Amino acid sequence: MKLVFEKSVPGRRAVRIAPANVPRINIRSDLLRQKPANLPELSELDVVRHFTELSRRNFGVDNNFYPLGSCTMKYNPKVAEHIASYPGFADLHPLLPQLRMGGMLTQGALRVLHEIDLLLREITGMAEFTMQPLAGAHGELTGMMIMAAYHREQGNKKTTILIPDSAHGTNPASAAIAGYSVVSIPSNENGVMDIEAVRQHLNDEVAGLMLTCPNTLGLFNPHVKDICDLIHSVDGLTYYDGANLNAIVGKARPGDFGFDIVHLNLHKTFATPHGGGGPGAGPVGVKKKLVPFLPVSVVIKRNDGTYALQYDRPKSIGYIAPFYGNFGVVLKAYVYILMLGKEGLCRVAENAVLNANYVKERLKGHYKLAFDRLCKHECVFTISERMAQNGIHAVDIAKALIDKGFHPPTVYFPTIVKDAMMIEPTETESKETLDSFIDAMIEIAEQAENEPEKLKTAPTTAVVCRPNETIAAKNLNIAYL
Ligand SMILES: *Cc1c(COP(=O)(O)O)cnc(C)c1O
Repeated sequence: MKLVFEKSVPGRRAVRIAPANVPRINIRSDLLRQKPANLPELSELDVVRHFTELSRRNFGVDNNFYPLGSCTMKYNPKVAEHIASYPGFADLHPLLPQLRMGGMLTQGALRVLHEIDLLLREITGMAEFTMQPLAGAHGELTGMMIMAAYHREQGNKKTTILIPDSAHGTNPASAAIAGYSVVSIPSNENGVMDIEAVRQHLNDEVAGLMLTCPNTLGLFNPHVKDICDLIHSVDGLTYYDGANLNAIVGKARPGDFGFDIVHLNLHKTFATPHGGGGPGAGPVGVKKKLVPFLPVSVVIKRNDGTYALQYDRPKSIGYIAPFYGNFGVVLKAYVYILMLGKEGLCRVAENAVLNANYVKERLKGHYKLAFDRLCKHECVFTISERMAQNGIHAVDIAKALIDKGFHPPTVYFPTIVKDAMMIEPTETESKETLDSFIDAMIEIAEQAENEPEKLKTAPTTAVVCRPNETIAAKNLNIAYL
């Protein structure tokens, strides 16, 4: 029998595949199933209800406010999603030839990869990008491998990476996986990496620095350029963790601060809904002297205007991911950047910073600010002394917010602030939404000071109640008591 598979999705080109020549596979009889598999027999309606019910328990930016600091949980315009689902992009197979198959099927995709590289260069001040890394952490590892490859070529015997104590945990992890030992640099009384501490730890062993700026407290380090200069003075390289680019996009460029390697989290700054582990993209950009070490392949534009994949990079660290990275995520970022343009991107940063400072100023009489100064895109609070005396912790505030329909902020991070509550409103929220969140936070603060026992059992109105954390960690089946 000749099998014909036809896709009849409206608006899509029908694809006919007639695998007439596929040989029969003879499977050994001892490997064949003896009786029918015991599959659950459910109607379509039962299945639809089950998954719809599960999806309703989910919380996302599309439901309500999501002030999860360090994550940039902004609203991602649906138009980017729509364009990424065009069959001409979504149905491309990574093994399609570059120039054949019914006329240049892959040329458009290669052009996107090339043009977003140019856009990211302009945004960051770097010389060239790779789109391969699949997340920020993966970009960090790529960057550390590039750093190691550079030092190997220079004949440098360097062993350590300097990282501030406020860093995201992936920074020291990436440095360690790349073979380096990590020296943690304390933050100063202003909440930023202390330049004197950097000076004290500076020696020929220092291979480089990893820095997030503004950092995970939402604070910009005014000495960032001097710190980069110091690292360069011992022939070290500087790595910019771009997770917080939302705060400065269009306004300032890490390349101009003096960074040699940069990763961006396209899923944070540039229009990919995320959470729950992906998909993401962590493109890495480098300064000119590090370009030869970038992963292969690289998309180039030929003189005749066509695009091609280039593999001829003998110093490359090799493949860091299959094919070209998460192409769909890269494509969404490309759409988003072109849609917003230069002015739009500047307004992203302006409004992200304005919103964070608004929340900070309105909440600062009710919670204790970790560092009371102008913040960038996020601000970090801790509990008041009275709350602490009442036995209230950040977790209680977070759980109480769930009862009020808000996603809690990031809690207990950065670890240098006890009972940290890290709020990142992002630029996409209206003043009305921010006000209702702030009002909820104020109500909870009053309860935490006056009726603390009520908070300790929250959430009480949500689909689930508060798990017994100890049992939850030990036995997943009886977590909810
Ligand atoms: C999110 C984040 C990372 C890691 O990025 P992923 O894309 O989640 O792997 C690294 N550093 C900082 C500061 C972050 O906020």
